[in-house]
Amino acid sequence: GPLPRDARVYVAGHRGLVGSAVWRNLEREGFTNLVGRSSSELDLRDRAEVDGFFEHERPDVVIDAAAKVGGIVANSTYPADFLSDNLRIQTNILDAAARTGTTRLLFLGSSCIYPRLADQPISEDSLLTGALEPTNDAYAIAKIAGIIHVQALRRQFGVHYISAMPTNLYGPGDNFHPKNSHVIPGMVRRFHEARVSGAPTVTCWGSGRPLREFLFVDDLASACLFLLENYDGPETVNVGVGDDLSIRDLASTVAAVVGYEGSIEWDSSKPDGTPRKLLDVSRINSLGWSASTGLSDGLTAMYEWYLAHLDEAR
Ligand code: GDP
Repeated sequence: GPLPRDARVYVAGHRGLVGSAVWRNLEREGFTNLVGRSSSELDLRDRAEVDGFFEHERPDVVIDAAAKVGGIVANSTYPADFLSDNLRIQTNILDAAARTGTTRLLFLGSSCIYPRLADQPISEDSLLTGALEPTNDAYAIAKIAGIIHVQALRRQFGVHYISAMPTNLYGPGDNFHPKNSHVIPGMVRRFHEARVSGAPTVTCWGSGRPLREFLFVDDLASACLFLLENYDGPETVNVGVGDDLSIRDLASTVAAVVGYEGSIEWDSSKPDGTPRKLLDVSRINSLGWSASTGLSDGLTAMYEWYLAHLDEAR
């Protein structure tokens, strides 16, 4: 049922792409008692710091959007960091929440937890039925541990904690790093810089053939509150739009939004990653939620944000 608007809600990772959207949405929905800490104020990898924070703040509700994330190249370059940081962050938060009396918690993962060659669209039931995509297996194993940790806490302590797995995300506040970012912010930046400098060619990664689904981050934020208010079960819940497109078509769409009119080339020395990753969203749809922002609208909003924050874009 509805969460009281004065509930103390801790948004872990509230400066990130997801956490900042969750925070904005909770404010819009009338929540008056939000708690956030930047990574310089609270190192979530440090168990003693996290224990102290929870003992002091005692949040009623936790949304765990804190994670070390990155695109395909970052994941294959720093797998040890992705595994170790993420395991520590989520384990510290989940244990401290259960111990200090947090009543509702949502753990967020990623669609890369599913087997590389899972049947498409990917249903929640395909978890742990096959081998992972090697370019992000370390990150995926950490997130799978988080799903099982939530289930284990439910079984052992009877807490009402849940998990959700969003598809590939994009939006205002994204990471636009030229190498470490995900595909959409990487393309936005590259097409923007080419338009401004008048470069005749932009190079994108891989073959352009992989298929991906993209969810606007504010839609995920609305799904987070929806699930906390309307779902309480051990199985994870996919959050996506139910539709995908090729990376090649994505490049044309981003180019159109940015106003880049030059040519697009493909660098086959960069990895393609998993061939297709489309989530089956029938579970969340049947609960009564579906995504509302189309790709062009979402990209336009994101590009406006990028232009307004050029100097501070990460
Ligand atoms: P993935 O969904 O885990 O593979 O993550 P990404 O968002 O990093 O990549 C999605 C697809 O886009 C992959 O096939 C990439 O090779 C391709 N891609 C094309 N151009 C870019 C780019 O500039 N940055 C990134 N990260 N991926 C790109």
